[in-house]
Amino acid sequence: MKSDTGSNIQNVKASNRILALKHIAIHKGMSRIELARITGLSKMTAVNIVNELLAADLITETDTLSSITTSGRKPVSLTLSPNSPCICGILIKRELIQIILSDLGCNIFYQEEFHYKELSSSDELLSMIENLYRRCSASTDRRILAIGISCLGPLDTSRGLILDPPLFYGIKNLPIVSIIEEMTGLPVFLVHDATAGAFSEKLLGIGRNITNFVYLHIINGIGAGLVLNNALYDGDTGQSGEIEHTCIDFHGPACSCGSHGCLGLYTGIDHLRARIQELSVIYPGSPLSMLPFPEWRDIITAGNHRDPLALTVLEEFCSYIAYALTSTLSLLNLSTVIVGYSSDNDGDIIEELLSYKLNTHVMSAKYQPITVTHSSFKGNAPLIGSVAIIADKVFSKLLPLKELENTSSL
Ligand SMILES: [Zn+2]
Repeated sequence: MKSDTGSNIQNVKASNRILALKHIAIHKGMSRIELARITGLSKMTAVNIVNELLAADLITETDTLSSITTSGRKPVSLTLSPNSPCICGILIKRELIQIILSDLGCNIFYQEEFHYKELSSSDELLSMIENLYRRCSASTDRRILAIGISCLGPLDTSRGLILDPPLFYGIKNLPIVSIIEEMTGLPVFLVHDATAGAFSEKLLGIGRNITNFVYLHIINGIGAGLVLNNALYDGDTGQSGEIEHTCIDFHGPACSCGSHGCLGLYTGIDHLRARIQELSVIYPGSPLSMLPFPEWRDIITAGNHRDPLALTVLEEFCSYIAYALTSTLSLLNLSTVIVGYSSDNDGDIIEELLSYKLNTHVMSAKYQPITVTHSSFKGNAPLIGSVAIIADKVFSKLLPLKELENTSSL
């Protein structure tokens, strides 16, 4: 909804500065002329803003552009200053915590991770995060603006709570935002991991020029993030994206959510391993038949090599997802699906199978084919999203940059 209030000249100038900073952060190595072109600002205004951002040490000049202009002057490119403020991002998974530091362009310059098998309590989780954060913050002299936490759901992002993720060691209603804020003294924002994935695609990835799409994270649980009308859709309380609890068989087994036959009951790695074991009798020569505990990577790699057993299992897997996703795509009239999962090879069997099924099942596909494409960040979109969500708050002026507060007026 548009604001009912007007903008005074100072607001316009502040908006122009932050817009310029956003483009310099995201499009690395931009010249002043390119900045003026992409922002629509006059060259004089762009030059003045660049001078202000240089004076605030938010950006710096490099002469990495190789060409010489027609005037004979060597063009310089603009990039974020190595002294500019940075962002901390944390990704919480069932058996892994990752922490990163990035600049405002979401370029990571510090990364650490900690693997664990189980948690005795929420205190153990918080202690791990505190230790990781202490090492992370001690590694840099840059000011950390805020912390973005990308976490498995369900969450209540409006109240900063991890609600009760299944198989998450009994952790329930953990007010992680207020605890980490008190621990660090920084603003903290919580986001569903799949929603964070969608956001990283929108700000930095292949979703940048796509108005509406769904991001689907499919490994170790299935989550969906929605971008509608160029904006992240997070739901009333931040619990959107729980596609695992879409019913695909109302006669199916009971689910912990209270429903029956939910998608997540059919797409876990244990379910796929059981199917591989059953099918090994039919396909004894499959490389998957030789493995006692095939991992996702093994299954996808075998599928990309057109192994019949892997293809059968993945065809079922994608059928389940397509049943659940068809409802969402039809309801919202979406025609782009971005799929995130780790993959070391260039195969696209998941995208191929999903594309076929969705284009067969979704009514609107007769008029606008459904495009299914692999994530720009492979399996890392939820991690990148943890910092992208903070960068966007800066670029949207929801998180003020004190470095810009004392800049002179244009
Ligand atoms: Zn359920």
